[in-house]
Amino acid sequence: MIGFGSIGRGMVPLLERHFKFDRDRFVIIDPEDIYRPVVEGLGIRFIHAELSLENYRDILTPLLRNGEGVGFCVNVSVDTSSRDIMRLCRELDCHYIDTVAEPWAGYYDNKNAHPGDRTNYDLRDDIIEEKALARGTRTAVSCCGANPGMVSWFVKQAVLNIARDTNTPFTEPQTREDWARLMQTLGIKGVHIAERDTQRARMPKEMNVFVNTWSVEGFVSEGYQPAELGWGTHENWMPPNASTHSFGCQAAIYLNQPGAATRVRTWCPTPGAQFGFLVTHNEAISISDYFTVGSGPKPEYRPTCHYAYHPCNNAILSWHELFGRDGKMQPRMHILGESEIVDGRDELGVLLFGHAKNAYWYGSRLTIEETRALAPYQNATALQVTSAIIAGMVWALENPMAGIVETEEMDHRRCLEVQSPYLGTVEGHYTDWTPLDNRPGLFPEDIDTSDPWQFRNILVH
Ligand code: NAD
Repeated sequence: MIGFGSIGRGMVPLLERHFKFDRDRFVIIDPEDIYRPVVEGLGIRFIHAELSLENYRDILTPLLRNGEGVGFCVNVSVDTSSRDIMRLCRELDCHYIDTVAEPWAGYYDNKNAHPGDRTNYDLRDDIIEEKALARGTRTAVSCCGANPGMVSWFVKQAVLNIARDTNTPFTEPQTREDWARLMQTLGIKGVHIAERDTQRARMPKEMNVFVNTWSVEGFVSEGYQPAELGWGTHENWMPPNASTHSFGCQAAIYLNQPGAATRVRTWCPTPGAQFGFLVTHNEAISISDYFTVGSGPKPEYRPTCHYAYHPCNNAILSWHELFGRDGKMQPRMHILGESEIVDGRDELGVLLFGHAKNAYWYGSRLTIEETRALAPYQNATALQVTSAIIAGMVWALENPMAGIVETEEMDHRRCLEVQSPYLGTVEGHYTDWTPLDNRPGLFPEDIDTSDPWQFRNILVH
């Protein structure tokens, strides 16, 4: 396992609960030596190292070749190239899983790179290229956390639920094309990954510290990438600072502004209407791409898809402080542990909109209290991630020669069967909310009243 941060620490008890493995061959690698006593206290070998382009083959090869059987590399670190490590695992005939298409250090903060070269579109395109070389080889699961990951399984279940509830005749889709056709038939215009994290810290946020419920480094990296979204065929307006790509699947656009400074209107069950950050995520592109009918820049049908994330209140304050400090990172970073959280839940689901019943949110509502009872060493945010990794690993072992897969390509029923015991309640909610509710307000607004579900109405200008 690469990385022993908030996700890595939560993984260990779940790995022990779900899999039989040779404990003496379980190794955890992390450049932070403070974790050594914890890891060794669990009877697990610890290697104090920072993986890099120069050393990853030398460090990982003997570990994955040690003894009989098939190795499994679980990558829950930052700053390590998913593509390179995936490729090495293929050469060594080992399984691989990660939760993000991650590059080596220096990608996200490269001031000389064109914004288009700092996008998840670019990172995913690398994985898609690699996928073509990996057909029929040992299964490697790409981007299998909560989001990206679990939410793609929710989208499929939500599509089936909407078809059922609107009395739309259908047979359960078998292929990617079937899924895209069913979404098109239902008139779904777009999907928000709509999340509200209400986990509340015992201590208020201090100045000069970035607080979050999962990787601060990960969140800051993605928050400074350009805002990015899968671009649907119903859209009739594009933001003036938007750009398209000249290569790859053409399913997405990006805005020339950071995702964490881009707000969108969305809806979750607890708050109802809320603002979310349009932070770029792999699933915004992979979901739009998967549910496309046709191909290229002008397909017959494609849903818009993007993240609409209201992180915990301390993280909102942290972003406000960080942008106000001219982008100079706070000297301290802190991830809230399960014992520091007074109350709250991570409410993470998918909002499918534009269909006959307007909009439908389907997802996990997991409280901190439920989390504590279910698994140790993690908060609600982390448990939604670690349980998705476990589900992805089960699927990989049951489908061992599938090559590189994205989560949309996996059996969503099987994955959710494994994961659901860890998700609190998994619920569906219809709502009559639209992003035009109560608008215009006291000032004139740039809105399109002909279709509430235009991105023009969703984006906070
Ligand atoms: P974290 O910041 O708590 O931990 C990351 C760990 O990686 C740290 O312990 C760090 O020392 C280690 N690390 C840094 N550079 C390394 C290197 N070069 N080689 C090996 N290890 C290195 O992060 P986290 O919250 O545990 O998240 C882990 C990963 O999971 C991140 O990439 C994050 O973006 C991702 N994540 C995905 C989801 C999802 O739903 N898909 C959700 C949360 C986190």
